[in-house]
Amino acid sequence: MTAIRLLPPELINQIAAGEVIERPSSVVKELVENSLDAGASRIEVDIEAGGARLIRVRDDGGGIHVDELPLAVASHATSKIGSFDDLERVASMGFRGEALASVSSVSRFALTSRARDQDAFRIEVDGGKLQGARPAQHPPGTSVEVRDLFYNVPARRKFMRAERTEFAHIDDLLKSLALARGTVEFRLSHNGKPVRIWKAARDEQAALHRVAEVLGEEFPAHSLRIDYAMAGLHLSGWVGLPTASRAQADSQYFYVNGRLVRDRIVAHAVRQAYADVLFHGRHAAFVLYLELDPAGVDVNVHPAKQEVRFREQRLVHDFLFRTLHEALAQTRAGLNTPPVA
Ligand code: ADP
Ligand code: MG
Repeated sequence: MTAIRLLPPELINQIAAGEVIERPSSVVKELVENSLDAGASRIEVDIEAGGARLIRVRDDGGGIHVDELPLAVASHATSKIGSFDDLERVASMGFRGEALASVSSVSRFALTSRARDQDAFRIEVDGGKLQGARPAQHPPGTSVEVRDLFYNVPARRKFMRAERTEFAHIDDLLKSLALARGTVEFRLSHNGKPVRIWKAARDEQAALHRVAEVLGEEFPAHSLRIDYAMAGLHLSGWVGLPTASRAQADSQYFYVNGRLVRDRIVAHAVRQAYADVLFHGRHAAFVLYLELDPAGVDVNVHPAKQEVRFREQRLVHDFLFRTLHEALAQTRAGLNTPPVA
């Protein structure tokens, strides 16, 4: 038997990283969410070798003051909540203060930032060891560079798939983020080549254009615009008609307060609403945004924050079911139309 001992901080961070940093796309998710929380209007994601060699996320958000740079990569350090009360009503994407500490413990990591009316500074973390801050060149905003992900965690590195596969995961993630924030410009490049440019969508038509880029050019013509509010719940977006249904459930985007979620209650309500208009084995396509008071939804369910718990599950379920069912009722007359492939 060995004695019980406190783990060294680097090891604690690596263990925490195991929970949320599964593959390159998990890093991109954490970094882009930070950029969104920083109020960025433009976010650039550069990837090399599927993210195994380099993940770089640059934003024009509020930046980080030089005095706070070391804190940004410390664990349990966040600017987003300060009390249990805040946790109960968190409106930002992040709040755990863990992502940068985790990512920097399993990569060669650099953070360069320029806060408003300040000079730019850069810190580096290599294998959990912090260096800096040194003066740097950077426009207002923040850049994070993550090189050689999992270089010091061979077990994880082994699980990374082919470059193409990892990049496909990143591309899918970016699509879901681009749909979450239509007013933000996103750019994605791979191995130096631009892959996606989503310009900020300033009006509804532009927003629908972005939806079409993700769900297919034919989607708008086969969907209904929804915008309905009741009892503090607001549902908006586009529901695909039966003619927009798919063989796979790969075009379902449901956001709760701007966060893409996979939720049992939501999935059930949506399935029920479509039950009598969809052929068996077909899957609905939709982009839906549910907005409610952050206090009415707990996002602190799982470290990856894809799960949520609604305070009033029944109310949310019935609201979603009724709103979608009613909208789709208009389409029942068109049930004879065969679904497209
Ligand atoms: P969390 O997002 O949960 O607060 P992170 O580890 O992701 O934790 O980030 C730690 C802190 O670093 C954030 O609370 C924020 O203050 C700062 N930060 C991280 N990324 C950015 C960014 N792109 N722009 C401005 N500040 C950032
Ligand atoms: Mg974060």
